[in-house]
Amino acid sequence: MSRILTLNAGSSSLKFGLFDASVPEPPLVASGHVDSIGSPNAGITVKAADGAPLAAEGPGPVKDHADALDRVLSLVARLFPGAAVDAVGHRVVHGGPDHDAPVALTPAIAEDLDRFSPFAPLHQPHNLAGVRAAMARFPGAVQVACFDTAFHRRHPWENDTFALPRAYYDKGVRRYGFHGLSYEFIAGHLREAAPLLHSGRVVVAHLGNGASMCALLDGRSVGSTMGFSALDGLPMGTRCGQLDPGVLLYLMDQEGMSAAEITDLLYRKSGLLGLSGLSNDMRRLEAADTPEARQAISYFTFRIRRELGALAAVLGGLDAVVFTGGIGENSRLVRARVCDGMHWIGLDLDPDANAANAPEISAKLSRVRVLVVPTDEERVIARAAARHLEGRPYPTQRSLR
Ligand code: AMP
Repeated sequence: MSRILTLNAGSSSLKFGLFDASVPEPPLVASGHVDSIGSPNAGITVKAADGAPLAAEGPGPVKDHADALDRVLSLVARLFPGAAVDAVGHRVVHGGPDHDAPVALTPAIAEDLDRFSPFAPLHQPHNLAGVRAAMARFPGAVQVACFDTAFHRRHPWENDTFALPRAYYDKGVRRYGFHGLSYEFIAGHLREAAPLLHSGRVVVAHLGNGASMCALLDGRSVGSTMGFSALDGLPMGTRCGQLDPGVLLYLMDQEGMSAAEITDLLYRKSGLLGLSGLSNDMRRLEAADTPEARQAISYFTFRIRRELGALAAVLGGLDAVVFTGGIGENSRLVRARVCDGMHWIGLDLDPDANAANAPEISAKLSRVRVLVVPTDEERVIARAAARHLEGRPYPTQRSLR
């Protein structure tokens, strides 16, 4: 049977999905993840499409992403003997200015994408390591890269640029925006489940270990909180979010920090972890009773509220807010704090629906609807890979010209 494998590598995790490629909208066969890569306590779990556990390994050491991928591929081969992998779909965080749609990878394109590793160091090098490993393991399979930046590539110019001399824009110093696979899934979900909202003004808050927000107008991204790198906008688990560039000058000039040290500070030691001094994990912060943990949550929700107002202004009003990502889908506290006192914009929360994690958590008379939608980046990747297998890839802007 023909299969599509999807790979989605984060800084210390690897998610994967196995899909049945013989059906047009490929159904999920199995999915799983490797956690805590690089630690002695890593774990691997695989479950069937209905959630039934199929395999679990660990806690034990998983050396690096290559090791993780090797283990995943061996498990998949053992669990599904005889399944031919015809396509591998990869989440690639940064596609730069040229990629506005998924692309079939060649070794040369994969090598070129390494240029963007410095702008997404927690993801891009691992994404590309996955590409190389999958090319070696499945030499006959089509390898499809799906970019988190692609969904935003048609941003209006004002949302695509910084106020630097134009030469930098031409060199690719632009506001790309990320989490595009998640936003594409949400836009597709709205098109099916709530067509009126899909054609309206929607702000999606993807709140997970990485966090950003996106303004959707008629299902298209017209603004997002992330920019050139995966650092800007909202504070995240370990990333700082919006920062006055003067802080960087201060860190270099006055604190004598190198680029590598600043990278480490901004990507790995800031955000919820830096503010709380405790953890990047929202569950731990909610459970902790320290002033620093409470302040970290307050800063997080304050920034989301601020960006919600800004993106509503970009949209010229607001019809719906969608929460997604690990925090957005599960944290009643964060959702309640974000929506508190938002009556001025027409948004009223139903506290009981919010407490119950219901799919719609706005009050009956709220003009702005508030939805909770579990995202599914793997499905978006699998769809793109299936289209390549069928010989009808998504058109790119250049192919439309
Ligand atoms: P993600 O990166 O999308 O997997 O999301 C990870 C984040 O979701 C972590 O900060 C988790 O603590 C958070 N999260 C997951 N489940 C819950 C929950 N039940 N309550 C609060 N936060 C949660």
